[in-house]
Amino acid sequence: ALRTARTRLWQSQPTAVRLASTFAILEQKEGKIVSQSLSAITAGTKLGGAVTAFIAGSGVKSAADEAAKSKGVEKVIYVENPAYDKCLPENYAPLLVENIKKGGYTHVVAGHSAFGKNIMPRLSALLDTQQISDITAIESEDTFVRPIYAGNAIMTVQSSDSIKVITVRGTAFPAPELEGGNAAVEEGVDPKTECQTEWVSEDLQKSDRPDLGSADKVVSGGRGLKSKEEFDKLMTPLADALGAAIGASRAAVDSGFADNSLQVGQTGKNVAPQLYLCAGISGAIQHLAGMKDSKVIAAINKDPEAPIFQVADVGLVGDLFVKVPELTEKLKTL
Ligand code: FAD
Repeated sequence: ALRTARTRLWQSQPTAVRLASTFAILEQKEGKIVSQSLSAITAGTKLGGAVTAFIAGSGVKSAADEAAKSKGVEKVIYVENPAYDKCLPENYAPLLVENIKKGGYTHVVAGHSAFGKNIMPRLSALLDTQQISDITAIESEDTFVRPIYAGNAIMTVQSSDSIKVITVRGTAFPAPELEGGNAAVEEGVDPKTECQTEWVSEDLQKSDRPDLGSADKVVSGGRGLKSKEEFDKLMTPLADALGAAIGASRAAVDSGFADNSLQVGQTGKNVAPQLYLCAGISGAIQHLAGMKDSKVIAAINKDPEAPIFQVADVGLVGDLFVKVPELTEKLKTL
């Protein structure tokens, strides 16, 4: 059941009357904007007032020029320095503080991604402000909506902090098109904070599939798939036939059927594709938390009482080992 609670966050200072201005932090990988992080701009335009986008790392000038094309952005600030490539909070948060202080912003926004979750708490601490996480709607300049208890309750929070540090759920603030805008691009300040932490390495799964977080279609498998071999044998051709990304339940991930990065749900990724087609997933609340905003939910499960059918737009009761290959064959003929 949905409940609404209104929580007033600590009130350290009365809010001065000033126009909203948003500092929207963009994430980059190898000098290119991570498209989901553009949600910060969307949230900024919803807040009203001026939006300044920020990006840092090596070779980010062209990414800054790209961001300048986004409608609603007044200015893009960039800082060229390889020290920010891996977004270590120890030097990235002080970098943000310097640039935020210079602009006197009322709101600082980033995506609720690993990047945002890593950087924003430290930034909030440095600014001595209370972070507002994972918002799904903006009611006004100081009032925001966020899911709690894995999406089972919706909380409306009001903040009186003079700078509001916010992370936004990407699926609730779709990225803007990078066209039609013409923002000024300028270099920001670089405090070159010495960093005690060193980036060692990363081991990323490479895939030609659409990115799970932003794909239009997602096919997802659960414990019902029984093994990694069956998961791959059934889900991969289905995903290929639909041009979909592959997701999985936590039970499937924990059982080693699918990679960690494919987990959908409360402790995995949030997705809201046009189509979410799942097989062998019961529909636990922690799983629903990550996919229930999908436009069309289709589920295959042999148990007609499975909770997934309560949220599914289309349900097929049957054995997935028969139904999934049948469906895949039909899709191939379309
Ligand atoms: P099950 O619940 O075991 O369901 C398997 C389903 O497959 C059943 O409904 C069964 O009827 C069906 N089935 C079996 N065989 C067949 C067949 N041959 N044909 C058709 N259907 C078949 N879970 C997540 O997914 N994501 C999360 O992010 C997440 N975070 C969590 C965080 C916390 C703090 C906790 C406590 C739990 C979290 N979970 C998460 C786990 C969650 O509670 C469930 O345990 C998990 O989602 C179950 O995965 P499942 O649906 O694949 O497995």
